[in-house]
Amino acid sequence: MLQLYMPLHFLGFVYREIKHSLADMERMFTLLEENKEIQDKSEAQILDAKNAAIHFDHVNFSYEPNRQILFDVSFDIPAGQNIAVVGHSGSGKSTLARLLFRFYDVQSGCILINNQDIRDVTQQSLRTAMGIVPQDTVLFNDSIYYNIAYGRPEATADEVHAAAKSAHIHDFIETLPEKYETIVGERGLKLSGGEKQRVAIARTILKNPVILIFDEATSALDSNSEKRIQAELKRIAKNRTTLTIAHRLSTIVDADQILVMDQGRIIERGTHQQLLAINGQYARMWELQRQEAIHQNVQQNLTIS
Ligand code: ADP
Ligand code: MG
Repeated sequence: MLQLYMPLHFLGFVYREIKHSLADMERMFTLLEENKEIQDKSEAQILDAKNAAIHFDHVNFSYEPNRQILFDVSFDIPAGQNIAVVGHSGSGKSTLARLLFRFYDVQSGCILINNQDIRDVTQQSLRTAMGIVPQDTVLFNDSIYYNIAYGRPEATADEVHAAAKSAHIHDFIETLPEKYETIVGERGLKLSGGEKQRVAIARTILKNPVILIFDEATSALDSNSEKRIQAELKRIAKNRTTLTIAHRLSTIVDADQILVMDQGRIIERGTHQQLLAINGQYARMWELQRQEAIHQNVQQNLTIS
C-alpha cells in the first residue's frame, strides 16, 4: 500500500510542480511582453523601501510615439501617507500605478522612492516592496489557495486563511466544491469581478508590503461589500505609503491629499475640504456622485416598500 501510494504521491507532486511553473511561465510571458525594454542595470541596487517616500518628478510618458499620455506630472507621497487620484476614465490614473510598478519607464522626469530612481534598483526589490490591487485581476489557472498564497509563497495555511477572512472571501471559499483547493481562472471556476478583487486584496494583505497601490480596488463590489472592505483596506493602509486610485469619491474623503487628473495632467490637488472650496472639477464630480447616491437610495426605498 505504501509502495503504491508513494509513486502516486510523487507523480502528484511532479504534476503540481509542472502546473505551477506553467502558470508562472504564463505570467512571465505576459510580463515580458509588456516590458521587453525594462531591464535591470548591471549595477542595479537593492531598493531601500523602509518608510518609503515616493516622488514623481516632472514625469512625461507615452505608450506609443505621437500620443503623450502624462504631461509634467509631479507629486509626493510622504512616508505613511495616503494619496488619492481621481479623474475621468482615460485621464491617466492607472498609468501612474503602472509606472510606479515599473511596467514601463518614463520618457522624461523620474520616479524616486526614498530618493532612489526606480530605474536604478532591481525590479525584484522594487516589486517586493509593493502590493497592487489592480483594476482587473487575472487569476492563475490554479487553486484559489495558490492564488492567494502567491502574495507570499512561504506563508502558512493559517496566514492564508486569515488574509482571506480580512478580504471577506473566506466564507465564500468554504462553499466551493473543493474549498481552498478549487481550481479558478479561465480554465477553472470563473469568479465574478468582485470575487477576483477580493482574491487580489487577500493576496496583498498576505504580502504585507511597504507600499500599497489600490487601482479602483473595490469598484466591482456592491456598495455594501465595498463599505466593509474599504474599512479593512483603511486598516491595512494605516502608516503605509499608499496610492489609491478611486472610482467612488466617498471612499477617499479622508486621504491626506487628492490629485485630480484630466487628460494626463494634474489639474487640482488638495484635501477633500480644500477641493470642495476651490469649487472646480472635484466639486462637480462630488456633487454628481452625491446626486447619484440619493437617486439610488430613493430607488432602493421604492423597491423595498
Ligand atoms: P484611467 O486609469 O484614468 O482610466 P489609463 O491610465 O488606463 O486611464 O489610460 C490613459 C490613456 O492611456 C488612455 O487614453 C488609454 O487609452 C491609454 N492607454 C492605456 N494603456 C495603454 C497601452 N498599453 N497602450 C497604449 N495606450 C494605452
Ligand atoms: Mg484605470
